[in-house]
Amino acid sequence: MVLPQRCDVVVVGAGYSGLATALVLRDAGIDVQVLEAQDRVGGRIWSERRDGVPVDHGGQWVGPTQTRLLAWAERFGCEIFPSHDAGDHVELWADGSRHLFATGRSSTGPGVEEYDALEERMDEMASAIDLADPLACPHLVEWDSETVESWLLRNVESEPARRRFALAVQGVWSCEPREVSLFHLLFYIASGGGMDSLMETIGYAQDSRFVAGAQAPALAAAAELGARVHLSSPVCAVRQDGSGVVVETEGGAITAQRVVVTSTPAATARIRFAPSLPAPRRRWLARSPMGDVAKVHTRYARPFWRDAGLSGQVVAYDDQPVGVVFDNSPADASSGVLVSFVYGDRYRAYAAMGEAERRDAVLATLTRVFGSAAADAVDHVEKLWPDDGWAEGGYAAVPVPGAWAAHGRDGWRTPAGRIHWAGTETATVWNGYMDGAIRSGERAAAEVLALL
Ligand SMILES: Cc1cc2nc3c(=O)[nH]c(=O)nc-3n(C[C@H](O)[C@H](O)[C@H](O)COP(=O)(O)OP(=O)(O)OC[C@H]3O[C@@H](n4cnc5c(N)ncnc54)[C@H](O)[C@@H]3O)c2cc1C
Repeated sequence: MVLPQRCDVVVVGAGYSGLATALVLRDAGIDVQVLEAQDRVGGRIWSERRDGVPVDHGGQWVGPTQTRLLAWAERFGCEIFPSHDAGDHVELWADGSRHLFATGRSSTGPGVEEYDALEERMDEMASAIDLADPLACPHLVEWDSETVESWLLRNVESEPARRRFALAVQGVWSCEPREVSLFHLLFYIASGGGMDSLMETIGYAQDSRFVAGAQAPALAAAAELGARVHLSSPVCAVRQDGSGVVVETEGGAITAQRVVVTSTPAATARIRFAPSLPAPRRRWLARSPMGDVAKVHTRYARPFWRDAGLSGQVVAYDDQPVGVVFDNSPADASSGVLVSFVYGDRYRAYAAMGEAERRDAVLATLTRVFGSAAADAVDHVEKLWPDDGWAEGGYAAVPVPGAWAAHGRDGWRTPAGRIHWAGTETATVWNGYMDGAIRSGERAAAEVLALL
C-alpha cells in the first residue's frame, strides 16, 4: 500500500500503545497514520492459533485494576476468563525436592517467613514513590545508586529468602536482581499496586486471560483504524525542523506535524534521528535494556494434571531452565496446555542450547513435576523474545542504576521537539504491562492534541 505524503500525526508502532494513541487522535478528528514494522499488529502481544488453540507467545494476563485494558476488552467485545488456579501448586526446592502447597496458602519452604517480611518491606519502600512525580522521591539517588542484588545482600541474611526473591524478580521483571536498579524495581511495584498485585493470580495481575488470545483487542482496534495502519513499514529515520517532521521508511516518507514513537527503548535506539535526540533521551535509551525471557507452550490431549488435584502452577528454585509454569489451557479445556517461563540467567543457559536440547530440558522438568504423562506432548513451541528483532526482549525494559536519577527527568518521556514518546516503558500506572501501554498512548495523544 502506498503511504500518504502528509498527515497530522504519525505513530511509530502498532502495539497496544501505538493503537491507543491512534484511536484517541482519530476520535479527535486528527489525520493519523500508523507505521508498523511487522506484518501484524500487537507487538509484544502475539496470539498464534495452533490447531485451533490460541497460544499467547507474549503478554496474556489481565487483572482487575488494569482498567484501561478491561475497557478495551469490553469496547471490542473480547471475552476474558479466569486463570486456572484450583488444586495444589508445586515447588521444586534448591535441594532438588518436590513439594505441594494448596492454592491460597503460602509455601512452608525454606526462607518463606523472611521472604514474606521482605515483600512487606518492598511495599513500604515503594509507597514513598508518588506516581504523579516519581522523580520527586526523596530516596531517588540513594535507591537508584545500587542494584536490587546489592541491597538484598546487605539487608536480607537468609540465602533461601534471597533465592525466593530472585525468582520473583525473574518472574516479574525477567532479569536477575543484579541487573536492575533498586529504584526502578520499587517504582514498578508502586506502578502495579504492590507486590501481591504483581505476583498473585486470582484478583491480581494474573487473574484472567482472553478467550481468543490477548491480541484480540489489538486486532479489533486495528480493524477500526482501517487503512490508517500500514504494516511491514519499518521506520528507519525521523527528521524534524521548525516546520514539521519527516518520518522515513524504505517504501516512502510521510511529512507530519508531530510523531509519536512507541517502540521499545532498544528498537527506538536503532532509528536515525536528525537532529540527534537530546543527550538525556539517548542516555535513558542506552541504560534501559530489555529483559530476557522465553515462553514455551507444551500442549497435551487433556489437562491431565487437574485429575491429580494439581493446579499446573510450578515455581522452581533449582537451577533448571524453567523458573515458573502455569496452566495455559484454553477456556473450554478442550486440550491441556502448560506454559513454561525461562528468564534471566536461566534464559542465557537455555538460549545457548540447541532446539532439541531445549525441548528435552523443558519436558524433563514437566515430567519431574507431573509424571510420565507430561512426555506425551502433542505440540511444543517456544518464543525467545531477545531474538525478536522489533522488541529485542521482554517483558519490558529494566533500567540499570543511574538511569532514573541522572537521566529520568529529561530522558524518560519528555518530548524531543516534535517527537513524543509512548510505549509501556513510559507509563506511570502498570508500567511494563498492556494496560500501561494503553495508558501511555492515551497520555501521548493528549500531549499532542494540546499542541496541534
Ligand atoms: C513474554 C512476555 C509476557 C508478557 N506477559 C504480560 C502479561 O501477561 N500481561 C501484560 O499486561 N503484559 C505482559 N507483557 C508485557 C506486554 O506485552 C507489553 O507491556 C506491551 O505489549 C507493550 O506494548 P507497547 O505498545 O508499549 O510496545 P510493543 O508491543 O513492543 O509495540 C511496539 C511496536 O513498535 C513496532 N516497531 C518497533 N520498531 C519499529 C520501527 N522502527 N518502525 C515501525 N514499527 C516499529 C514493533 O513491531 C511493535 O509492534 C509480556 C511481555 C512478554 C514479552
